[in-house]
Amino acid sequence: ARESLAAIEAASELNAFIGLDAAQTLAAAEAADARLARGDTSPLLGLPIAHKDVFVTRGWNSTAGSKMLEGYRSPFDATVVERLAAAGMVCVGKTNMDEFAMGSSNENSYFGPVRNPWDRRAVPGGSSGGSAAAVAARLVPAATGTDTGGSIRQPASFTGVTGIKPTYGRVSRYGMIAFASSLDQGGPFARSAEDCALLLNGMAGFDARDSTSLEHPDEDFTRHLGKGWNGSADAARPLAGLRIGLPDEYFGEGLAPDVRAAIDAALKEYEALGAVRVRVSLPKTELSIPVYYVIAPAEASSNLSRFDGVRFGHRAAQYGDLLDMYKKSRSEGFGEEVKRRILVGAYVLSHGYYDAYYLQAQKIRRIIANDFQQAFTQCDVIMGPVAPTVAWDLGAKGDDPVAMYLADIYTLSTSLAGLPGMSVPCGFGANGRPVGLQIVGNYFDESRMLQVADAFQ
Ligand code: GLN
Repeated sequence: ARESLAAIEAASELNAFIGLDAAQTLAAAEAADARLARGDTSPLLGLPIAHKDVFVTRGWNSTAGSKMLEGYRSPFDATVVERLAAAGMVCVGKTNMDEFAMGSSNENSYFGPVRNPWDRRAVPGGSSGGSAAAVAARLVPAATGTDTGGSIRQPASFTGVTGIKPTYGRVSRYGMIAFASSLDQGGPFARSAEDCALLLNGMAGFDARDSTSLEHPDEDFTRHLGKGWNGSADAARPLAGLRIGLPDEYFGEGLAPDVRAAIDAALKEYEALGAVRVRVSLPKTELSIPVYYVIAPAEASSNLSRFDGVRFGHRAAQYGDLLDMYKKSRSEGFGEEVKRRILVGAYVLSHGYYDAYYLQAQKIRRIIANDFQQAFTQCDVIMGPVAPTVAWDLGAKGDDPVAMYLADIYTLSTSLAGLPGMSVPCGFGANGRPVGLQIVGNYFDESRMLQVADAFQ
């Protein structure tokens, strides 16, 4: 943890961290040292962790990247924070992020953009850009993130680290500042699938304080690592029998040639390990963009109503009556993208439009989930790109929200279906910027996804 603090300080121009508190970190490090001295061998004990600033953390600021929550202190810890602290991890800071996790480039943060450690002209991806950059720059061995429509997988891909979004409901949302509650899911970033498995052991599990937490038996996510697929004992071809589904829709027009080449090379390696390719189809992939950008803003408009300057958040200094106070506080506290989403969300939920937009979107969401189940009758995991291109330049899509939304094409449908997905580094594209391979598994199949990722690493 002490080395992490020094590294974070030295890399401050990345702007990966927006909350640091050396005194608290050092106190936690001493407590961990004391546990180690007593012979405690918990696997995560003493290791530094950076938390995305969307997780509320007692004693630290928790801002969700927004002016609305600048200086906000939570009276309690998010479950994820609490569990990792109990496992002995030492919080070294809170990471920068797109405001309320809305974005794909980390340029929507009130605290300024994060730079990609591989190329400082490039974005790190978003919304968990600070966490991804912190792991990529080796400032920390691990960080937490959240993924609503790709916010773990895409920044992991853009920064060349491993990140996993578990099955919806695996990781408690308690204390995770809500964006779109039916989609939000926490998960880890780390250097390898093995590290992600250990972190997931610390993070996941039923939590009665989250009404959508799933009562699934606890498991050891490392249990398949290093073993042959389905018990295969063929050391040369450890993945013999693995069927990799490749959706036609993930390899069509719009996929940049450099990304395609890196994915192809990874698939060849998988074949060498014994896996076979299977063509599958996810016909509604294109619709995942409009569907997500109706459902997520709808939920956001509801979730963000709590930031009214009374219960939570920034309060305007001068105002007339109560409504004027709400209006001024929210106008001042929220950034452009957040306002855009609230407006879209309120619109699609309003009387007369609900049936035309929100209800239609929910119906297509169901079809998207069913299409995945159809695909999983033919394959064990699905693979494809995480994003159509490598990281773009800072500012390149800054004033074009739709261009930014379109870049989410390969991650949104997994989120809409609630399926687990991960990004595994698989090479480099244009300008030496990293490319991530996406692995999607069926519900609760994280352990085998991690096994498949680990075999490649
Ligand atoms: N880029 C998507 C959005 O802007 C996803 C963000 C996320 O997963 N939090 O909503």
